[in-house]
Amino acid sequence: MQDSCQVVGNKITPCPHLSKALEYGNPRAKSKGVFIPERVNFNTGEPGTDIAQLHSGAFVGRGIALNFCPFCGVSLKTWEQSNG
Ligand SMILES: [Zn+2]
Repeated sequence: MQDSCQVVGNKITPCPHLSKALEYGNPRAKSKGVFIPERVNFNTGEPGTDIAQLHSGAFVGRGIALNFCPFCGVSLKTWEQSNG
């Protein structure tokens, strides 16, 4: 297993610590924790962009995207890549 997170295209492979911090499945309205929800591109049916989301405090419900992994510090900005 990798020591740090890997971002390949729009997919996040979390590092061991982030893996352990992740809650299973998709966040519900009052879920708290860190999630990488299952997304599907409805146009293509392909898996959508992975976004690591923190659901805590004022961000329960909507969530807030994590720019980087809080454990290994690797950028998780899957939504800012330049080319495919
Ligand atoms: Zn990490």
